[in-house]
Formats: sequence, C-alpha cells, structure tokens
Amino acid sequence: DELISQIAAGEVVERPASVVRELLDNALDAGASQVTVRLASGGVRLISVEDDGLGIPREELTVALRRHATSKIASLDDLETVGTMGFRGEALAAINAIAELSILSRFGGADSAFALDGRTGELRPVARSVGTTVEVRELFFATPARRKFLKTDATELAHCIEAVRRHALARPEVGFSVWHDGKLVEQWRAADAREQRLADALSDEFVAKSVAVEHLGGVVRVVGRAGIPDAARSRGDQQFFYVNGRFVRDKVLSHAVRSAYEDVLHGQRQPIYALYLEIDPSRVDVNVHPTKIEVRFRDGREVHQAVRHAIEDALAAPRA
Ligand code: ADP
Ligand code: MG
Repeated sequence: DELISQIAAGEVVERPASVVRELLDNALDAGASQVTVRLASGGVRLISVEDDGLGIPREELTVALRRHATSKIASLDDLETVGTMGFRGEALAAINAIAELSILSRFGGADSAFALDGRTGELRPVARSVGTTVEVRELFFATPARRKFLKTDATELAHCIEAVRRHALARPEVGFSVWHDGKLVEQWRAADAREQRLADALSDEFVAKSVAVEHLGGVVRVVGRAGIPDAARSRGDQQFFYVNGRFVRDKVLSHAVRSAYEDVLHGQRQPIYALYLEIDPSRVDVNVHPTKIEVRFRDGREVHQAVRHAIEDALAAPRA
C-alpha cells in the first residue's frame, strides 16, 4: 500500500511547483481572498500555503488525508458540473506519501484551530484565525532518486512562482504573495479588474501591447487579451489559457490561436495572450489527467472556431 501510494503520488507531484499548484487549488476552492506562499530552498525544504478560506472542521482534518477523500463532489454525476478546481481527493494523500505534511486549520465558527501531523495523525489545538495553512517539508525525502531529478533551487523557485502566477491570472480578486527563504519575492494585490492583474503579474507592457478579446453569445465564450509583441522581444512564455477558471494546455486551443495569428499577422511573431474560455461544464471533461492540466472538449471544432474568430476579430479591429 505504501508503494501504491508512492506511485500514485508520482503522477500528481513531479516537483515542488506541483505541490504549490495543488495547495493553491485547495485554497481557492475554500474561498480564500488572500493566499501566502512561503518556500525554502526552491520549495524542496518547505512549501507552506496559508489561506483565509473557510477552514476545515476538526473531524474532517484526518479524513482529508485519505486517498479519494474529497468534500467537493458527492457522486460521479457531479463530475459533469464540477465547479471546483479539485474533485479527485488525491492531492493531500499523495503529498503526505512523499513529504512531511501538516495541516493547521480553523473552521469558521469553531472556537479553536487544530494542527494535524500527517505522519502520526496526531491532532493538537493551536492558535490561528479562520483559514488553513498546509505545510510540506522535505519533498521526496524517501525517494532520493526523484529528489536527484530536481533542478537548482532557483529553477524550482521559478516553477513555483509560475504556478502561483497561473492561479493569480485566473483570480484577480484574490491577493497573492510569495516568500522565498524569508524574502518577499512576488506580491500581487487583490485587483478589481483583470487588466490590473495582468499588468501586475505579467507586465504593463503585456497590457499595452495587447488588445481586448471578447467573444460572447455563443456556446463558448472567450474573453481576455491577445498581444502583438515587438518582434525582437517576443517571448513564448506569455501564453495562458483558462477553461472555466482552470489553467490548461491544449492543442486545439493553441492551434486555434496560431491560425488566427497566421491569418492576420502572417505569423512572424510569437503570440502573447491570456484567454479565458467559459463553456458549459458538460461540454468539457476535466478528469483526463491527475494534474488536471489537460482537458477534453466534447466538440473540439466548436471551441476551435470560437477561439479563432475571437482572436481574429480582436486583432483586426482598429486599435485605440
Ligand atoms: P480535492 O481538492 O480533490 O477534494 P485534496 O486532497 O486536494 O482533494 O483535498 C482533500 C480535502 O481537504 C478537500 O476536499 C477539502 O475538503 C479539504 N481541504 C484541503 N485543503 C483545504 C483548504 N486550504 N481549505 C479548506 N479545505 C481544504
Ligand atoms: Mg485539491
């Protein structure tokens, strides 16, 4: 069973950034408005994610670490309409199998907070306000082979920050801060508008060099910004797709964008974009991969057309 949990964990957790992603999903699912990420040594020594969300009731704390324990869906049918980032109930169990995990949480309305030690299962009262902090120490301590595959702290840190940025771009109304080895390395304050968050978390230049995309009314709604970078400074790492609030990588989507850029700009430049698709959850399967970074559309053509038209319209419109 130990072995099975370790293998399952390997599918969810590849590096510190995978842990960051899962813990941020949970914080956002809990309705956090402020999330603080603390890392030590690129996340290998410590990943701590603190939120001010609804917290976990004492009696659910130990359950949360069990495999396939989720409070987010009650039946298979619910998968059709799942609106939360998580639903597989795997992340905490997986992380607990490959690192030292502890959870400190205070549920709204409860008069005390509790800390759960993931290894011993011991619960003890602690002091904290409503919300949850998950601490993960010594990632891959029991699997030196995996630990050896990790890159330098600086590289792992960059991946962790990228994971936070992806969440931050999805949720401008939530404030994020990232600390590394005791220093504040990123901070994005809660913003009223998506443009503001894009400027803060990407750059002012990203907003200045992009146009608004707005394709409403159809089955697939597409909003966001698509950019025309200066040829010389064009970077491939400013391409973000979200489907119903979830960051994804998808060939249908990237192909659609590329086709639109080919048509309008004849493809000399790397597109930059942050695009947010809203689609009826029953038309997209998010349960394709343990990391949920891939999705499958029921009708890829309809999605392709919507994205392509959205970008073409945006790029062709006279710019203000
Ligand atoms: P999933 O997110 O797929 O449900 P996880 O293993 O990530 O599975 O989390 C297990 C459960 O622990 C969640 O369903 C939720 O009830 C609880 N949980 C985890 N993190 C938090 C958090 N930050 N705030 C509130 N509840 C949480
Ligand atoms: Mg989760």
